[in-house]
Amino acid sequence: MTKAIRTIPEPNKTIDVVRDCDVVVVGGGPGGIGAAVSAARNGADTVLIERYGYLGGMGTGGLVTIIPCLSDFAGTMQIGGINQEWIERLTLKEAEIHPPQEIWGSTDKRLISYWNDRSFFTVREGHIIYSSIIDAEISKCILNDMVAEAKVKTYLHSWGTMPLMDGNKAAGVVFESKSGRQAILAKVVIDSTGDGDLLPFAGAAFDTDIDPNLRIANLSLCYWINNVNFMKVDDFRKMYPLRWAELMQDLMKKGGHPFFMRSNLKGQENVVWIHPRYANSSQTDVEELTRVEFLGREKMLLTHEFFKKNIPGFEDSFIVLSSPQLGTRGARRVHGDCMLTSGDLLSNEPFEDTIAIFPDLDRGEASLAHPNTFIPYRSLLPRGVENMLVACRAFSSDQEVNNFFNLIPHCVAFGEAAGTAAALSISRRVSVRNVDFASLRKRLAAQNVPLPGMYPAKYEKKEGKPVAVYEAPAFGERRPASK
Ligand SMILES: Cc1cc2nc3c(=O)[nH]c(=O)nc-3n(C[C@H](O)[C@H](O)[C@H](O)COP(=O)(O)OP(=O)(O)OC[C@H]3O[C@@H](n4cnc5c(N)ncnc54)[C@H](O)[C@@H]3O)c2cc1C
Repeated sequence: MTKAIRTIPEPNKTIDVVRDCDVVVVGGGPGGIGAAVSAARNGADTVLIERYGYLGGMGTGGLVTIIPCLSDFAGTMQIGGINQEWIERLTLKEAEIHPPQEIWGSTDKRLISYWNDRSFFTVREGHIIYSSIIDAEISKCILNDMVAEAKVKTYLHSWGTMPLMDGNKAAGVVFESKSGRQAILAKVVIDSTGDGDLLPFAGAAFDTDIDPNLRIANLSLCYWINNVNFMKVDDFRKMYPLRWAELMQDLMKKGGHPFFMRSNLKGQENVVWIHPRYANSSQTDVEELTRVEFLGREKMLLTHEFFKKNIPGFEDSFIVLSSPQLGTRGARRVHGDCMLTSGDLLSNEPFEDTIAIFPDLDRGEASLAHPNTFIPYRSLLPRGVENMLVACRAFSSDQEVNNFFNLIPHCVAFGEAAGTAAALSISRRVSVRNVDFASLRKRLAAQNVPLPGMYPAKYEKKEGKPVAVYEAPAFGERRPASK
């Protein structure tokens, strides 16, 4: 971690307050989009602060354009709401692909082979699941539309630096931009920075430890190579499998990236996606982030030159884009009112305050035995801090749970629950900690969020928009919220 060589006092300054609102959301990635759009749609005067010039976080600027794990093995859609709306808006622009709904859950080998070729994210444990591959650039435009239509006041190019605290109560946010250091006062502050940037200044407890073998231990600098002739690449790989294996071994020894995916989006079939992984000592240390930016581009160049020289089909290719935003997978994880631990991955009992159901697909036999995991609202509430929610991959979880459930759709779902709860707390004049769980679940269900006992039986289109048709909304009060 970057160490201070000495300290100096910061001169006392007054800060201009530029807005007084109901809800301020810091970070415009998947969590922040869910939070800001749902808070505003539920009637809260909402401000969104994002450090870059576009929205979407890793889902756009990080070039992470796979939205996986939306249905379980049985083919039932489990993540809906704002995430599904985002996908449907992309579908209308032909900027997204996914297996058609009729085949979710299918074990047909022919279909599996077809979808495996398009993206292995659409197949798990011999079942086709609902996962979507999206266009990053069109997504930026659609997310702009979604926040603008919801009347969220958005500040881009603005870095949220610290929450304003009144004792243990959050009361707003300080942010920095070309306009200087400014403040926004708010009744509820939502940390959607991904990394939990506000937590240290809010006095919230959090963990940062990560087992180096876990996916979330790695930083990434993703990149795309364009103009690849895949007919030639596939022919070479099929005709000379041993030579292919030798070459990939050689590339790996050099520190390059032998594993790549195809875009498969319409008109982008000649584009290769590479998601490398870099070990690091911390994902919030600016010196480490800088080191990996340099290393990532060095290895990107090495990989592309190697492919061009050795793999037929890459001769005329070029690097079209390296991610504008370094890929961070795991940083701070807040200590919430309820911390999800590996034991929760084995439970089939919903919580009283369940705000989302996440299909459990990545743990082999264990997943087949336990297809869905329930997520409690309390995992978004930082212990001991009032008026604050954490709606991003910094949610309250141990390393194992975080490793499985910090993906893009999960974070949109955290955001949707947090934003809805924040608006509810304001309209009912209670703190976010005291929001009535039953009312929150009812609102989420009405927003097409599948919940236990409130599964949308099916989606119907009304005036071009997906509307859930529910089965009987009975909810067993098992796993009460006292945990
Ligand atoms: C290489 C890689 C591959 C991955 N593969 C997949 C995959 O295939 N599918 C999948 O679903 N997930 C994948 N993930 C994980 C997923 O991308 C993230 O976990 C998810 O995007 C987290 O969403 P978030 O909203 O918590 O954070 P982020 O996506 O990181 O968004 C945080 C947002 O907040 C902004 N921000 C941060 N700090 C501040 C601040 N202080 N002030 C203002 N703004 C701030 C950021 O600019 C960003 O817009 C991958 C991640 C990486 C890095």
